[in-house]
Amino acid sequence: MVSKVSTLNTDGVGAVLAAAEDGSVKLATGVPGYPINGIFASLQSSGSICANWQYNEKIAYEMAVGSSACGERAIVVSKHVGINVMSDPLIISATHGIGAGIVVIAGDDVGAELSQNEQDSRWYGKLAEIPVYDPSTPQDLYDSIFDGLALSERISAPVLVRVTVAVLNDRSDITRRKYTAEPGKLGRDIWNYTMYGKHQKYLKEGWSAASFESSRSGLNKIVRRGPYGIISSGHASIPAAAIAASYRMSHLTLGFVNPFPKNKVNDFISEMEYVLVCEDVAPFLEEHINSPKARGRMTGHLPRAGVLDEDNIMNAVENILKDRINPEIVPETLESRGFAKSLCKECPYKPVYDAIKMLDAPVSSDVGCSIYTANPPYNIVTVACGLGSSISAACGFNKKGVAMAGDFSLLHTGLQSMLNAKLHGHNVLVVVFVNEEAAMTGGQKIPEVTGIIKSLFGDDCSVNEAEGLTAENVYEDLKKMYEEPSMKVYLVKGLCVKK
Ligand code: SF4
Repeated sequence: MVSKVSTLNTDGVGAVLAAAEDGSVKLATGVPGYPINGIFASLQSSGSICANWQYNEKIAYEMAVGSSACGERAIVVSKHVGINVMSDPLIISATHGIGAGIVVIAGDDVGAELSQNEQDSRWYGKLAEIPVYDPSTPQDLYDSIFDGLALSERISAPVLVRVTVAVLNDRSDITRRKYTAEPGKLGRDIWNYTMYGKHQKYLKEGWSAASFESSRSGLNKIVRRGPYGIISSGHASIPAAAIAASYRMSHLTLGFVNPFPKNKVNDFISEMEYVLVCEDVAPFLEEHINSPKARGRMTGHLPRAGVLDEDNIMNAVENILKDRINPEIVPETLESRGFAKSLCKECPYKPVYDAIKMLDAPVSSDVGCSIYTANPPYNIVTVACGLGSSISAACGFNKKGVAMAGDFSLLHTGLQSMLNAKLHGHNVLVVVFVNEEAAMTGGQKIPEVTGIIKSLFGDDCSVNEAEGLTAENVYEDLKKMYEEPSMKVYLVKGLCVKK
């Protein structure tokens, strides 16, 4: 049951909190990262929601599944790359079945401002066969979460709400509702079906119900003005709406994008001579539309990646009669951007990085602060592909290498790599930076890991305090460990000076 309507002036972050509280969410889990830290901090301020950071996104999502099975609604908050880590239980849970509603909020970093890549989380909706919302305003964000919780329960599968920093920063009045019913638990009847049967059942019941919802969703709205149109979703709908109004173009805003509302879109396109498709980050809608009338990121009318602004869209509109544009793409370099990110001036680990440089070995970095040493003046990183991945990557080098790992990255997923390396006898030198916080992602506190590592490696682990170290004395220690034909761990503890 839904009752009680009130209004609130808020930004996107406040809309998430309001929808979670109004939707009777009991558990929020997540992993720190840009651009979703603000969402999680606001959920932690709620008196009615138990909200704690977890070490990785797989754990965060699995907790939500447990909560849902017992009849309590849950929200999971992750940046886009975290959805990759979450994807195993996320995808499986759609056909396994859930009880109370689960909403996954995926924060996409458009333009890879503070991330190791640019990625569009909406694609996970295709892979997992789950509903995806791509709201453009605080109201649409509120409605996506509030309605998404109910839909999730109805179809017994999670839903994904994609957000970007622009949506989270927007501010407007929102209309609130209040959910007053008791969500159901996960029934034991799921165990009457084979795994294949569960998928059949989900496609027959859940997916078809989701398709019906998408076809009639109030989040997909049309403004008719003329024979040229724009189709947009997410925050790209805001500049698109301004351009559509000033050029007297029709506008279809899509907030519920998977299952793709193809009848609505096809009907709109049939009324148009041309349509421009505006969306962040990938051509998700455009690939579904696949019409000779469509222009967008795939036809060169809009940049293939990155943020869309009014100038991009205006330029595309002015060239809408052309089938294709072939813009010259000049990939951004550190030089053209004008700056390279670097360690804090007073970083206590600098002597250790200096010593690693002196070793002249292949170096695998995680994607915490140590990735800054890929840039000048260090230039020491050979490879850095994900949080917690540095140790495994170094184990694949064709000669002994160095793996740099922060304590947060170890707790995220690096400890398994460390165990794997030890159990398989890999010959690698691991340097662990311990500061008891997720330094790069906002300074969230984490527990001390020294005891765990020392208990695993004993005399093969040397524990050091950063204070008082010099590059020369660290080099002496590292060189000795590097020359030993076995796995060694150099652990260094220091206080992070970033404020
Ligand atoms: S945030 Fe902390 S660990 Fe990272 S560079 Fe700055 S001082 Fe060093």
